[in-house]
Amino acid sequence: MRNEKGQFEKGHNVPKRWREIIGKITRGKKHSEERKEILRQAMLSRYDKFGFINSPEARKKNSDSKLGTKNPMYGQCGFLNPNYKGGITPITKRIRHCFKYKAWQNQCFKRDNYNCVFCKVKLGNGISYNIDHIIPFSYILKTLKTWTDEFNLDLYESALKFEPFWDINNGRTLCVPCHQRTETYRRSALNFKYEY
Ligand SMILES: [Zn+2]
Repeated sequence: MRNEKGQFEKGHNVPKRWREIIGKITRGKKHSEERKEILRQAMLSRYDKFGFINSPEARKKNSDSKLGTKNPMYGQCGFLNPNYKGGITPITKRIRHCFKYKAWQNQCFKRDNYNCVFCKVKLGNGISYNIDHIIPFSYILKTLKTWTDEFNLDLYESALKFEPFWDINNGRTLCVPCHQRTETYRRSALNFKYEY
């Protein structure tokens, strides 16, 4: 549909086949300098008018159209997501990034009042801190894995239920230098032996 000036009206639908043809013709072509200047002026006038390319109402409308369940990506997690690679996230990363882990970590930080338990420095404000497992994370995981392998259970699901992971007495707040000096930092944790 065209108006009296011969311009297409808002909402005019160009058939898909036409669009393909137009696409083929215009591909690789550049606007002339004259045309570029017209487009530039049109955009600048919108900045003058609204302060943005789009008016505040249009911006609000755009944003509202993508909120919550209206968002096409809503609920597209796991195998539904186009980026899903078949569940290749390492098990340690899955546990360390789950909600339960964050909650456990925050409980420990709160109990220690955000102080390093060794050097008593107040953490935050530029002093990085870690949560440290007194019995190492890798040791707990290794122990759990021997059981899940034997009974053929899902390691992640079992880890969520495995108490030693979520025991706040096994967590302590440490500043990074103190954490690095512990005997169970990173690879040294592999030598850890549990003393009964
Ligand atoms: Zn410290």
